[in-house]
Amino acid sequence: MTIRHHLTDALLMAYSAGQLPEAFSLVAATHISLCDECRARLSAFDAVGGTLIEDCDPAAMDEDSLTATLARLTGAPARPRQVDRPARGLFPAPLRDYVGGDLAAVKWRPVGLGVRQAILPTAPGGVARLLYIPAGQAVPDHGHRGTELTLVLQGAFRDESDRFGPGDLEVADQGVEHTPVAEADADCICLAATDAPLRFNSLLPRLAQPFLRM
Ligand code: ZN
Ligand code: ZN
Repeated sequence: MTIRHHLTDALLMAYSAGQLPEAFSLVAATHISLCDECRARLSAFDAVGGTLIEDCDPAAMDEDSLTATLARLTGAPARPRQVDRPARGLFPAPLRDYVGGDLAAVKWRPVGLGVRQAILPTAPGGVARLLYIPAGQAVPDHGHRGTELTLVLQGAFRDESDRFGPGDLEVADQGVEHTPVAEADADCICLAATDAPLRFNSLLPRLAQPFLRM
């Protein structure tokens, strides 16, 4: 699995400090379990601990400055640990624990246009859902009132920014408007989390979204 889209430093720091809403923590933990690079970056943040995070303002820093500082503090980046992966099955361990099994255990609900979702039980402050997007199908175009994390588990989707394949994580925030489309050759299964309702641009999904908790 070649992963090209990762957790941001801000998200990894917040995850390390235990400050993410549970829905975001689930997506972060699932990505980290697939991604040697983010696991190594996380261990650098873990090594420094929470004190630094409370004292710094992430918004005022350059993208790489904290990483560079941490690299100096901790020396060489930690070696990625090997984690046990299931011989078969799609879901990494953190996700399997939430679902209570693998793909066959998911209780899908139709969203429309063949798209299905399953909302996972997490604490208030965010909503985590599995999304099943049939090959070639688009998710209605939308903007974001908060942050949306989307982790690809199977297949791939494209939007205005790039292509996202297995293990890739898209971080979409208030500046992003997009229309994710599953690639034509395979159904796409994603784990997504939001901390605020999406902003759909057309009427029909807007009418449905309170029922779908989108
Ligand atoms: Zn990563
Ligand atoms: Zn989105």
